[in-house]
Amino acid sequence: MKIIVCAKQVPDTNEVKIDPVKGTLIRDGVPSILNPDDANALEAALAVKDANPGTTVSVISMGPPQACTMLHECLAMGADDAYLLSSRAFGGADTCATSTTIAAGIKKIADYDIIFAGRQAIDGDTAQVGPQVAQRLGLPVVTYVQKVREFKKGSVVVERQLEDGYEVIEVKTPCVLTCVKELNTPRYMTISGIIKACEETQVTIWNENDVNLPPEQCGLKASPTQVMKSFTPAPKGKGEMLSGSITEMATTLIAKLNEKHVL
Ligand SMILES: Cc1cc2nc3c(=O)[nH]c(=O)nc-3n(C[C@H](O)[C@H](O)[C@H](O)COP(=O)(O)OP(=O)(O)OC[C@H]3O[C@@H](n4cnc5c(N)ncnc54)[C@H](O)[C@@H]3O)c2cc1C
Repeated sequence: MKIIVCAKQVPDTNEVKIDPVKGTLIRDGVPSILNPDDANALEAALAVKDANPGTTVSVISMGPPQACTMLHECLAMGADDAYLLSSRAFGGADTCATSTTIAAGIKKIADYDIIFAGRQAIDGDTAQVGPQVAQRLGLPVVTYVQKVREFKKGSVVVERQLEDGYEVIEVKTPCVLTCVKELNTPRYMTISGIIKACEETQVTIWNENDVNLPPEQCGLKASPTQVMKSFTPAPKGKGEMLSGSITEMATTLIAKLNEKHVL
């Protein structure tokens, strides 16, 4: 089996700061990590590899050259090879252009059975890229995968997380599965993996020519999203803690909500 994992390098913080003028993320001085959901996606792929000898796991990312560090971590966890789509032409990409570029990279890797992505990146937070990659490749997609139950010939059975339960879905392969954190606990890098990643396995870097994308289909030029304004909402003032018994607190709360005409 051949598995591809989409991995994004993200700032190591939930408090992403936004450039008030450009409306883009301020990344300088913020340490970067493998997007948490993508660590679950990689773990899912590596678990399939452990259980099915001969399986290969490739990791693909679009980002600046420093994303190589994150890809080396993926190799040290056990991935077989890694690809970085990196070029000035990819800069300023919205999710539409990001997925076009990633899909072009995946086409070049070719012959895949399953593409794992995270459900969502902790910086952009749109959860659009996985489904968009599926759409561009003409593949079925299952989002919110919380368990991979069984591989059959030509299909895979997964559990898809819902708010109050889950649904069991059998989907034909090749397909895209987007993963949630409940799927697994990502493994640590191993010493031998770190040595192999540093000494033996290089990250392959591709630009727009390598993946046959004309410049007008990449980056800002191919991004229909216009960010009009980005801002952090001002804090709304202090919260109030109620005290007393449950009945007293509930009574006070109802009175306060009535006072504000919420109820
Ligand atoms: C006008 C505009 C300009 C922007 N300019 C920039 C910019 O200059 N630089 C910049 O970094 N961001 C920029 N962004 C943000 C960028 O569009 C998103 O971060 C990116 O498209 C991914 O979307 P997301 O973070 O919401 O990912 P989600 O859709 O939440 O991610 C879901 C999953 O898709 C996969 N995935 C997402 N992105 C990648 C990736 N890059 N590589 C591999 N897998 C991935 C991962 O598996 C991830 O878990 C810009 C956005 C807009 C609207």
